[in-house]
Amino acid sequence: MRIFISADMDGITGITHPDQMFEGRPGYLAGCEAMTADVSAAIEGTLRAEPAAEFVVADGHSQGRNLFIEKLHESASLVCGPMHESVRPLSQAQGMEGCDLAFFIGYHAKAGTPGGLLAHTWAGPVIADVRLNGVSVGETGINAAVAGHWDMPLGLVSGAHDLRPEVEALECGTLFAQTKQSYGRTAALCLPAKKSRETISRTAQGAVEAMRSGGLRPYKPTLPMVMEVDTHRREQADKACRAKGTERAGERTIRVTAESTLQATLTMWEAMCRAQDEPPNWLT
Ligand SMILES: [Zn+2]
Repeated sequence: MRIFISADMDGITGITHPDQMFEGRPGYLAGCEAMTADVSAAIEGTLRAEPAAEFVVADGHSQGRNLFIEKLHESASLVCGPMHESVRPLSQAQGMEGCDLAFFIGYHAKAGTPGGLLAHTWAGPVIADVRLNGVSVGETGINAAVAGHWDMPLGLVSGAHDLRPEVEALECGTLFAQTKQSYGRTAALCLPAKKSRETISRTAQGAVEAMRSGGLRPYKPTLPMVMEVDTHRREQADKACRAKGTERAGERTIRVTAESTLQATLTMWEAMCRAQDEPPNWLT
């Protein structure tokens, strides 16, 4: 069995603030250690249920170079590097194809979640909301739909308690490992580290067992799928809609209609990368 693990940082054990999440900030290296430990906990739990499992881990936070490969299990390959569409067109789901089961570790609530810990979707300063066939989703729903393209179920998601409703809304049997109870945007009651990782590990084991017993279903939105993004500012939508395959559905809304969830996500991610492009200052 080949497991794809997409790892983000916001929902990791003990993380509540950007100072723990960005290169050059005081808590960053400790944050990287914690992220690596949470992923390793998921791997260890999986191996209890499936000793021959192999892993593809995608570092899906910021510049994509947070995990320590030396500390991951010896059977784990690591997708690392920036998530620009020119090198990682599937962003946090890069490397997923060919796997049997997906885990999302350290994920966070979507943009607009009231009181959501570090809540955002894909690119906080750009995106106000993402909808698949009219249903608002976060990174969990987006990447679960990509996995569904290959009929791959999402077995496990870990993160703060405010992410659980997004996981349950998929109605795919996905198990949830809670690492903390959110108090608001940058504060939470964090579980003791050891207990949090035991939860992740035990839930990963349960996810493999659920897969075997037929308890998991892939998330497959109806096709063709309509994917829409509301940007915060009109100028961001102006730039995004230059990507081929997009249409402008409103002053701040970009729409992609595609025959597969994979194509919709590829096109929309390219559009969102363009939305962030800043022209050189001699042109402004
Ligand atoms: Zn994220």
